[in-house]
Amino acid sequence: MDQHLSVEHQMFWDRFLKRIEDRVNVQSYNTWFKPLGIESLSESTLLVSVPRPYFSSWLDEHYLPLMTSSAEALLGRTVSISFVVKEDEDGDAPAASIESHDEQPSGTPRVHLEPPSFFKQQVVNPRFTFDSFVVGNSNQFAHAAAKAVAESPGTTAFNPLVIYSGVGLGKTHLLQAIAHHCLKSGQFDTDANPFIYVSSEKFTMDFIMSLQNNVTPQYTTFYRSTSLLLVDDIQFFNNKERTQEEFFHIFNALHQAGKQIVLTMDRPPSQLKGLADRLINRFQWGLVTDIQPPDFETRVAILKKKADNDGVYLDNAISEFIAKHITSNIRELEGSLIRLLAYSSLRGQDISLDMAAHVLGDSLQSQPSIITIESIQKLTAGHFSIPENDIISNSRRKEVAVARHIAIYLCKQLTNSSLKTIGLHFGGRDHSTVIHSIRTVETKYLKDPSLAAQVRQLKEKAKHTL
Ligand code: ADP
Ligand code: MG
Repeated sequence: MDQHLSVEHQMFWDRFLKRIEDRVNVQSYNTWFKPLGIESLSESTLLVSVPRPYFSSWLDEHYLPLMTSSAEALLGRTVSISFVVKEDEDGDAPAASIESHDEQPSGTPRVHLEPPSFFKQQVVNPRFTFDSFVVGNSNQFAHAAAKAVAESPGTTAFNPLVIYSGVGLGKTHLLQAIAHHCLKSGQFDTDANPFIYVSSEKFTMDFIMSLQNNVTPQYTTFYRSTSLLLVDDIQFFNNKERTQEEFFHIFNALHQAGKQIVLTMDRPPSQLKGLADRLINRFQWGLVTDIQPPDFETRVAILKKKADNDGVYLDNAISEFIAKHITSNIRELEGSLIRLLAYSSLRGQDISLDMAAHVLGDSLQSQPSIITIESIQKLTAGHFSIPENDIISNSRRKEVAVARHIAIYLCKQLTNSSLKTIGLHFGGRDHSTVIHSIRTVETKYLKDPSLAAQVRQLKEKAKHTL
């Protein structure tokens, strides 16, 4: 802790910790808060020291609102919280920092490995098989590669196989189809741990649990013992340095042992943000392939297949009508069909073109995914007559700052983007700066009638024109 810290700051910190202690369970408090220190406190920022880098992302994601509201309640003003890493010099390592990078030699004899007790294999969706996957120009290559890997895991040149695309285009479907294929073919029946399908978020959560429970070695050994590792949505490893490090070792051990790794992500590896270069580099060792949005014919084929599977007859005119209007992604496409089927069965009426137009009209209006961060930036800049670039710049000019706060607020309200993603699109601002903007709008601007009206106006405009 900083020696220059005033008595008041120290007192504030003690009360701050006490307040948090009253609000979280003992385990969490001891793990995540006890090791923290106050580094500095200014008018607007509380700088908290953390003993390890991964504390920052964990606190950021799970406790930032609690920490911010506690600090604000004690200080009576708005503050944003930032973290700084200060390694513990006494060697008095906090409970959650057991190091465990001992390389497990490849080819270790297989023993029946029990995962740590909190670990549950993620369930794969029975619908996501190769049979139910419609192949078109947009996904042909990804499909062929996934199939090749499923048939001879670890022996093709596609190791790792990396599939990337925007949302709802079939990454998870293909990844799980590989798992199904592997189960059906009984390829690894003699293995203790034939495959692991896991989302990167679950991998991270489990890893943190393993730290809390002192079972990290079991955790990583369990992962290293599989023949087929399927990790979904790797982009969520961003800034989780410790998790990435652990994954890096698992990746190496499996790759060296000729085990198959398949990964999905929302953009090409080279464009991933907040991931270590050495990981990104490894993602490019095998085959990197994308899935594009489906063309019209594929969309029609997908709709027909879904209807067939549900035992429903879908007239050509209707499937073409839906396919023409829902172009963004396959999840939306399926969603529209499901809504249409529900509507028709509730009303006891056959599906007609009029009905489709009616139901689809609703769905088009409620498609928030078409509002993007960029489009909000553009709209807001235009509204305030400032150059678009200024919004993401560091300019502190009053009107620019106001427009920026409002644009950030609208992004939070109108898109599904996380605070982190929003920050990245606004010139790499961090999580707490984004929260600060949102609060400024909520606590100041919305109380000012003229500004509130402008925010409302912009929101309506964004919803109806973007
Ligand atoms: P992603 O993981 O890329 O976000 P998903 O794999 O979850 O997308 O796919 C979204 C939905 O669309 C799922 O219900 C999936 O079954 C379906 N889907 C995606 N691609 C296809 C396809 N080529 N054929 C049939 N269904 C598909
Ligand atoms: Mg997915």
